[in-house]
Amino acid sequence: MRVAMIGSGYVGLVSGACFADFGHDIVCVDKDPSKIDRLNAGVMPIYEPGLAELVTGNARAGRLTFTTDLVAGVADAEAIFIAVGTPSRRGDGHADLSYVYAAAKEIAAALTGYTVIVTKSTVPVGTGDEVERIIREANPDAQFAVVSNPEFLREGAAIGDFKRPDRIVVGTEDERARDVMTELYRPLFLNRSPILFMSRRTAELTKYAANAFLATKITFINEIADLCEAVGANVQDVSRGIGLDNRIGSKFLHAGPGYGGSCFPKDTLALVKTAQDAGTPMRIVETVSMVNDSRKRAMAKKVIALAGGDVRGKTVAVLGLTFKPNTDDMRDSPAIAVIQALQDAGASIRAFDPEGTDQARLVLTGVDYAADPYACLTGADVAVLVTEWDAFRALDMDRVKALMATPAIVDLRNIYRPDEMARRGISYASIGR
Ligand code: NAD
Repeated sequence: MRVAMIGSGYVGLVSGACFADFGHDIVCVDKDPSKIDRLNAGVMPIYEPGLAELVTGNARAGRLTFTTDLVAGVADAEAIFIAVGTPSRRGDGHADLSYVYAAAKEIAAALTGYTVIVTKSTVPVGTGDEVERIIREANPDAQFAVVSNPEFLREGAAIGDFKRPDRIVVGTEDERARDVMTELYRPLFLNRSPILFMSRRTAELTKYAANAFLATKITFINEIADLCEAVGANVQDVSRGIGLDNRIGSKFLHAGPGYGGSCFPKDTLALVKTAQDAGTPMRIVETVSMVNDSRKRAMAKKVIALAGGDVRGKTVAVLGLTFKPNTDDMRDSPAIAVIQALQDAGASIRAFDPEGTDQARLVLTGVDYAADPYACLTGADVAVLVTEWDAFRALDMDRVKALMATPAIVDLRNIYRPDEMARRGISYASIGR
């Protein structure tokens, strides 16, 4: 099938490359010329494991092309995916739909023949109706259907998630569009991934419900972790003790510095706004969002406490900057709030991240970047491990102890064992243990 992907970021590029790998003919469109230039030169604009091989292989085979020219890109496409960003709107937390609507207008003018327009971006309930209205108004003769097909992939594991999803959600009541979507995803449900058809509004809401539920689960275990610290219990044992119950499940029960990333913070906020507008406020999600927001900055207090109550004039080594391992994505990373709070308290920050430094430079100021974990720790008064990259999982603790001015580590991901660190003479604090 011939498919156009509008927006070639974390979702559009991965989806486009995976569809191409299934044998479809894909054009990835982006309005950012530097992204398209890099892709045409075989250079990935983002870090995602396995992506470079997948993109270059399919580009070489002629199934995957890149352009800034939307009109040429969508010509003769049977399906056009909208995978542009939907960040929080400044001021009120609603999803900013300006990129989606701008893409819809551009698509409208370029339509030829019956086309299925698929919203893959995460968009509030009713956005599909508005996209349909925009296209109908701009091009009254166009033959098209607007379908919702939210994406559930995780950065860092995006290709595996796209190729072996737990489910595919498709919101449409148009028979022809249903056939097109079935054909497009056929290679996936041959792998037994269920494809769920539902109404467009229901599909739009399903994505927000999924993210809000996962954010709630994380926030719940984070609060249990705080209680564990207060009463002398161990959150990892609690997680295992509840997670083995199939009704609860063990995923998303790792206590940490609070969720970040490009989805959970903005999507919980947007759902809260949708619910308020609909007159059915979602108090649980409102609370989750508030609790998580204050948690990230509060993590700096643990660092200050381990440094003896004051970090003014001291050097804090920060290991890990991205919101999770195996991505370069810094959007809403907990590291940002932790570093800013430490800088506000007078600390100097030296940081290391395996892939996120370029993105970090765009959002953080006054940070000294080290070339590896040990260089980062050299001479530091205290260290804080923020992201659980593999590179930090087996640090040589004798070397760490010798390099640091004071051997003191705050482990916000519970990678190390308190008894082991005590045995080595390293002061240590973690989460909920
Ligand atoms: P992104 O910022 O990485 O990519 C969006 C791209 O769209 C950018 O490259 C931008 O230049 C391009 N763009 C914007 N307007 C355009 C236009 N009119 N024409 C062509 N290109 C245009 O964003 P992302 O992380 O890929 O997220 C995209 C959507 O997918 C969002 O709604 C997000 O919530 C959702 N989503 C993201 C993830 C994730 O893990 N990142 C997972 C599931 C869903």
